[in-house]
Amino acid sequence: MNITPPVPRRPRWRSLAILAVCLAPLLWPLQHLAERYYQDELAGQNRQTLDLYVANLLGTLHRYETLPQILGDLPALRAVLADPLRLETLTNANRLLKDIATQTGAEVMYLMDANGNTLAASNWDKHDSFVGRNFAFRPYFSEAIAGRLGRFFGQGTTSAKRGYFFAAAVRDRDRVIGALVVKVDLDHTETLWGKTPEQLLLTDHNGVVILTSRPDWRFRATRPLSDAEREAIVAIQPYPTQSPKPLNLEPKAWLTQTQTIEETGWQVSILAPRTLIDRSVRTVVAIGGATLLVVMLLLGLIMQRRRHYMDRIDFEAHGRQELEKRVIERTADLEGLNSRLKNEVLEREQAQQELVRAQDELVQAGKLSVLGTMSASISHELNQPLAAIRSYAENAEILLDHQRTDDARSNLKLISELTGRMASIIAHLRAFARRDRHAPESVALQPALDDALALLAKRRRAMAVELVRDLPEATLWVQAGETRLRQVLGNLLANALDALTEKANPRKLWLSAEQRDGNVYLYIRDNGPGFTSQALARAREPFFTTKTRTQGLGLGLAICDTLMRALGGELLLGNHPEGGALLTLQLRIAKPGATLPTSEDPSA
Ligand code: ADP
Repeated sequence: MNITPPVPRRPRWRSLAILAVCLAPLLWPLQHLAERYYQDELAGQNRQTLDLYVANLLGTLHRYETLPQILGDLPALRAVLADPLRLETLTNANRLLKDIATQTGAEVMYLMDANGNTLAASNWDKHDSFVGRNFAFRPYFSEAIAGRLGRFFGQGTTSAKRGYFFAAAVRDRDRVIGALVVKVDLDHTETLWGKTPEQLLLTDHNGVVILTSRPDWRFRATRPLSDAEREAIVAIQPYPTQSPKPLNLEPKAWLTQTQTIEETGWQVSILAPRTLIDRSVRTVVAIGGATLLVVMLLLGLIMQRRRHYMDRIDFEAHGRQELEKRVIERTADLEGLNSRLKNEVLEREQAQQELVRAQDELVQAGKLSVLGTMSASISHELNQPLAAIRSYAENAEILLDHQRTDDARSNLKLISELTGRMASIIAHLRAFARRDRHAPESVALQPALDDALALLAKRRRAMAVELVRDLPEATLWVQAGETRLRQVLGNLLANALDALTEKANPRKLWLSAEQRDGNVYLYIRDNGPGFTSQALARAREPFFTTKTRTQGLGLGLAICDTLMRALGGELLLGNHPEGGALLTLQLRIAKPGATLPTSEDPSA
């Protein structure tokens, strides 16, 4: 069965790829979610850090906030303002301020008169002492003189240290006679920031960075400054520079969290580098992508499996249909064949009947044919003795006319012998027809040959055929039947004479014999035309003849061949190299037996 399998469809990887492309945007929300998650997590951590830092900063500031007010009430300090030139009170005030500064941890404390001149300071004995210096330009001084709490951030013009200044008025009853200032060191709050990837950024009301974990960001402006702000900066000199350079931070690179300190107008920010969460987000997206890919592959495999399964089902269904179709076709064919066979059987039966009928007819016709053949061969075999009888009878008539009764008697005797021989021929003919076999007996070859020659002597002479005999003197004994051997020899010699009629003189007939290898060979040669190739091939067939219907029947050589075989000998047909036919009779040697009287030549 030849079922064409369905053409394999191309794998659906392309549709899978399209699906993957369609699903790929799903990674974007995943990335977004992951970013949100990690950002929130980071923000939570940083908010705590920020809260801690702000609380620490505010704690530091609050610790010193009320200090100027309290110190302003100390009599030792007021005494200085009352009499600034008195050395003793000055020394006392300096020592007092130094003691208090040491105890409170303030960086520096100093007392100014109403004009902004520093009369006493905790660092009176240091080389960068504030004593004698005027800080009236600082806003905290004017605030304090105005009766308010002065607050100010700035880098010390003398110490170059960043600090926060609290200033309060010193009063004599209701009159403001001076101001007391406490400077808190802020440098150390910067150092509290550890070496974390997150950065600290503290900006003042101008948006200028005053505290930061990154030294290169220090005193940079995070926003453009207005002219008024610039002028104020020049006037009050809070920074070491008079025009802060801008700080250009890449907003995308940082995750910023900011808290405002209302009382100072500061903003504290924590900047976390975005790279902190990028790696985690990338990992999540990669895992998401890989999961998607695996899902895609699984989906693809399942689809492919399903498709193979469907193909298989299709294929099998197709195969079944094909098979059923073929079975139906075969059945139809077989039915057709069956009916044809039935018809043929019928026809054969009819033909058989016709054949039987025809055979019956043929048998009938064959019988008639055999009858004709038999009569033809009988007449052929009997014609020769009949001719001899006729000539003996004619001779006898002539002899009786001449009163030669003895000769006539001997002729009649010969006639009688011939009739006997004819009877014998008929018997042998019958024997040939029935394929009778008589046991071979010892027969003398030369006398048999002489007999046969005698029967044809007259014809031979009439044709002037020269007979060349080359036979051994001693009698050659052969295994044969007397009559059958004569019949064979007579046939062969008659054929030779027949052949010689076609030839002009000289006509010759050679007879020779030899004894060899337990056989006797008799050679009969003539110088006639010889066997044609067709005659050589077919001469042994019954009824094969090249002669006219009246001359020959084609039975002579057939009978001779059969008789020779029956005698255990052989008849060999051939042509002599010098022309003419050469017939060889091969006969088995026999023990010497009784010699039969040689027939005389009837014409003699
Ligand atoms: P028939 O003599 O009646 O033709 P045979 O059987 O005796 O039948 O011979 C068959 C044929 O063999 C002859 O017709 C002849 O052609 C050929 N034949 C026989 N003897 C000779 C011969 N001696 N020479 C040439 N041809 C011969």
